Amino acid sequence: MRAQPTASHFVAGAYRDDPAGRRFESRYPATGEVIAELNAATEATVEAAVAAAREAQKAWGALPGRERGRVLRRAADILRAKNREISVLETLDTGKALQETLVADAASGADCLEYFGGLAASVEGITADVGGSFVYTRREPLGVVAAIGAWNYPIQIACWKAAPALAAGNAVIFKPAETTPLSALKLAEALKEAGLPDGVYNVVQGFAETGRMLVRHPGIAKVSLTGETGTGRRVMADAAETLKQVTLELGGKSPLIVFEDADLDNAVGAAMLANFYSTGQICSNGTRVFVQRSVKDAFLDKLVARTERIVLGDPLDEATHLGPLVSHEHREKVLSYLAIGREEGARLLIGGGVPRVQGFEGGAWVEPTVFADVTDGMRIAREEIFGPVMAVLDFADEAEVVTRANDTPYGLAAGVFTRDIARAHRVIAALDAGTTWINTYNLTPVEMPFGGVKQSGLGRENGRAALDSYTRVKSVYVETGDVAAPY
Ligand code: NDP
Repeated sequence: MRAQPTASHFVAGAYRDDPAGRRFESRYPATGEVIAELNAATEATVEAAVAAAREAQKAWGALPGRERGRVLRRAADILRAKNREISVLETLDTGKALQETLVADAASGADCLEYFGGLAASVEGITADVGGSFVYTRREPLGVVAAIGAWNYPIQIACWKAAPALAAGNAVIFKPAETTPLSALKLAEALKEAGLPDGVYNVVQGFAETGRMLVRHPGIAKVSLTGETGTGRRVMADAAETLKQVTLELGGKSPLIVFEDADLDNAVGAAMLANFYSTGQICSNGTRVFVQRSVKDAFLDKLVARTERIVLGDPLDEATHLGPLVSHEHREKVLSYLAIGREEGARLLIGGGVPRVQGFEGGAWVEPTVFADVTDGMRIAREEIFGPVMAVLDFADEAEVVTRANDTPYGLAAGVFTRDIARAHRVIAALDAGTTWINTYNLTPVEMPFGGVKQSGLGRENGRAALDSYTRVKSVYVETGDVAAPY
């Protein structure tokens, strides 16, 4: 199977290679096969991308918002028309089941382009009367945005960053994670076909060094990163040298709280989605499932019965629920946590090993796994595993569970299951989390601002908040009288 792109990078509206750059491969995680060979951007390519973006941004930022919006909405239509082709590519690059990529990746990217395309004409400021004279504000583009992605939702992350940035009149340089370099190039093709001027959206491939070159570059105004909390710290420190703005979407260890009055079937379904979808590789996953003691056994019985029915297999077969992890390297990390969970004394209910998937023996597989009787101090309850590993903890009452749920340096997401509406809103208000759900989990429509608090990040993607974050406010005081100078 091959998915070789025309070239590694997309700069100034054209594919280009950088033969001097470090070579790397993209592999299909289900088999280990090499599907593409690429080269990382050296400084020359990064400089070319920054120069092209700076030049192109001037005219793009000066267009009326509705014209920019039209381009984004056309790109949304193109992504939708190519959804199957891009979904197959995303499955090959990430290993995620096609059943998921068909609905969650390019499709959500298209929603995002459409939404911000619609908002582009509504970038506006305020006016205020100050006693005859007045002030007004302009929301202006920042300039060139460096967007750096993680490997779990490659094209969705590219769209979540590019769509609001472009709608606001910025140019973008996107660096995908080196593990999943391919679909961001398809977005570049779609945007070009939609009429985006050359240089306004660029893709440079590479490792952390390439990301660092962008973050430190004085020609870049803002950095938006999706990645680990440690990477977020390093990026923020590098960005501080030139005082760039940052949006950081980082890791999490989010609580999903199930009260005894909850609809248990819905709670079990949501807990499974919150731990097994995308083979557990979702930042906002509810990886600490707190279940009220009186319903714990019933919850676990239903959970195990449904987990047994999860279908692992050929990711390109739409009947398959779960693909492999993104890489063998990442699987080593996940497997180490399965061993840690056992050593710490958590009760393994199901999974816990490497399955044998017929015809895909070379893949980075791991079984969907549930540990029960997990306690707060265990590493599997404190550290982000980023695999299909659910930790179930139990609790006695509301006050206790809120305190324990908040006892983490992270604050990305949280969920509550209860039929008591007063309790639902009260508990959500008490949780330290940026993105929360009542009686569901992990739904992230583009209208909903998404992001974390504490060490899970800064700023928001999606929603109106994201558009504003790609603008700067210029205040203008207009004097209608005389200047009252005492000199
Ligand atoms: P990493 O933090 O390892 O990498 C993220 C991106 O940053 C990659 O493109 C990486 O390049 C690049 N990078 C790494 N170091 C630097 C640096 N010093 N300067 C600039 N760029 C750098 O994350 P993963 O790709 O491993 O993704 C998994 C993580 O992402 C998890 O922690 C997860 O929680 C988080 N995540 C957060 C989301 C959110 O919205 N909050 C959503 C999805 C994931 P390269 O990979 O090529 O080395």
